[in-house]
Order: sequence, then C-alpha cells, then structure tokens
Amino acid sequence: MLDAKRIEEAKRNAEACIRRGLVSACLAGVRCRWDGDSKPCKKIIDMVKKGEAVPVCPEQLGGLPTPRPAAEIINGRVFTCEGRDVTSAFRKGAERGLEIAKKAKCAEAVLAPRSPSCGCGEIYDGSFSGKLVKGDGVFAALLKKNGIMVCTEDGV
Ligand code: SF4
Repeated sequence: MLDAKRIEEAKRNAEACIRRGLVSACLAGVRCRWDGDSKPCKKIIDMVKKGEAVPVCPEQLGGLPTPRPAAEIINGRVFTCEGRDVTSAFRKGAERGLEIAKKAKCAEAVLAPRSPSCGCGEIYDGSFSGKLVKGDGVFAALLKKNGIMVCTEDGV
C-alpha cells in the first residue's frame, strides 16, 4: 500500500508531466533546420535541460534530410523551392511528433515561427519571396486540432 509520502511524490510527478511542453528542436539548439543550422533560444534550452520540455523536429521525423530544400505551403500542400511535393513527409512527421507529444503528456508547445511545419499564426505564402500570410504549419495545425496549446518562441 502506498504511504502518504509516495502519494505526494506521485502527485508531483503527475503535475510535472502536465506542465511539460513540446518545443521545436531547432529552438533547443539542434541543427535540424532546412539549411543545416539551428535557432537557439536560451529559455527553451534551459527548459529542455531541466526536463520541462521535449524537443521535436517534425520534418526530420518525416524522414526529410538535413540540410534540405526550403519548403512552403501552397493551397494546403507543401512544396520545396524546386517544386517537389513533400506533403506526405510533412504529414508523417507531424503525426509522429503528435505521438511523442501525447506520450510525454505535453499540454502545450512552443514552436519556431513561420515554418511550414512549426509556424503558428503566420507562415510564408508559398512564393518563396519572404511574404507572410495568416496560417499554421502542418505540425502546429495538427497539435491544435488535438487540443495542444501552441505558441511561437516569442510567447516564452
Ligand atoms: Fe525547427 Fe520545426 Fe523546422 Fe524542425 S520543422 S527545423 S523543429 S522549425
């Protein structure tokens, strides 16, 4: 039978799980961006070090190489700057990222802005000219659909 101390410990662990967030791996310093670089954010790196956040790169989870051609969303599908349709890899990576979020019991996610996967609220418009439109990346949209609160690194 569990004693009071162990019950308290179990409660604390459960609370820690609920508080744990998912973060874009490039914000945690992983060099997983399309250009082979990262976009480190000190607060995110600290969260990961303290075990408060789980880093995920949905594009790598979808099997895409690093570096890889830049990609943007056009009419709901994802194309590289070379015109290749990579929608299925983006969707597969988003599904795998969602599985990780569920297993780690993440209630929220802090994602990299403007990415065709992680962008939240605004993304590039598909013209590869740097123009932005309202919208979410494939991964951000899937997390939202599954009840996970999503914001960009500007929100931390
Ligand atoms: Fe970062 Fe997300 Fe792009 Fe991966 S898919 S490099 S985590 S913005």
